[in-house]
Amino acid sequence: MSRRPVIAGNWKMNKNVEETEDLIKSLIPLVDGAEAEVVFAPPFIDLPKAVELTKGTNIGIGAQNMFYEEKGAYTGEVSGEMLKDLGVKYVIIGHSERRQYFAETDEGVNKKVIKALKLGLTPIMCCGETLEEREAGDAKSKVVGQIRKDLADVDDVTKVIIAYEPIWAIGTGKTASKEQADEVCGWIRETITDMFGEAAAEATRIQYGGSVKPNNVKELMGMENIDGALVGGASLTADFAKIVKY
Ligand code: PEP
Repeated sequence: MSRRPVIAGNWKMNKNVEETEDLIKSLIPLVDGAEAEVVFAPPFIDLPKAVELTKGTNIGIGAQNMFYEEKGAYTGEVSGEMLKDLGVKYVIIGHSERRQYFAETDEGVNKKVIKALKLGLTPIMCCGETLEEREAGDAKSKVVGQIRKDLADVDDVTKVIIAYEPIWAIGTGKTASKEQADEVCGWIRETITDMFGEAAAEATRIQYGGSVKPNNVKELMGMENIDGALVGGASLTADFAKIVKY
């Protein structure tokens, strides 16, 4: 089974509308013709401009979060319906920064994944262990536990992109070795096999994220269980094209 690689840029809380326009305009010709599926996830306020600029290109636009209710008294939240209406195609769910700073739980992540799928949005569902958990030998139980809870009752797991992001490698310049990253992505695939069967596991894409750069993407992408990358810092300049076209 061949899985199409997917390279996504998570801009986090960076770039205003004007900067978004500049970066997207510089990247459109550079990522054109890429073998990988390409996703940019700018902040909410930039989404309308990003969708407009990328119409007719090979770039899909993603949000960095969504709420699972459609509308109502949820101050500060944005619903999946609202994203869909804008033309957004992907949504990052359960990023470790959301879990850490905004108290997101596995239960909430699961509801968001199910809702995104119901709306036809592609969730990029993040999981990963802390340095303390890795050093204590708990990386496997942490990640497998997240996958079991976050993907519980999902109808078609093959429509979910899973991003394995060891928290100790995010924004630190410290990348997991290709063997470490592949090992955890393998545990994730085993867990998907157990939950949804072998065919579904073979078809589901698993990204690695954590200090991916132009100089390390190729070796990571060469690993059996790694089907893409979720990129933070290195997605903020036109050099992101070097990652997309690894
Ligand atoms: C991320 O936050 O998704 C990420 C992987 O960040 P960075 O590439 O900067 O480590």
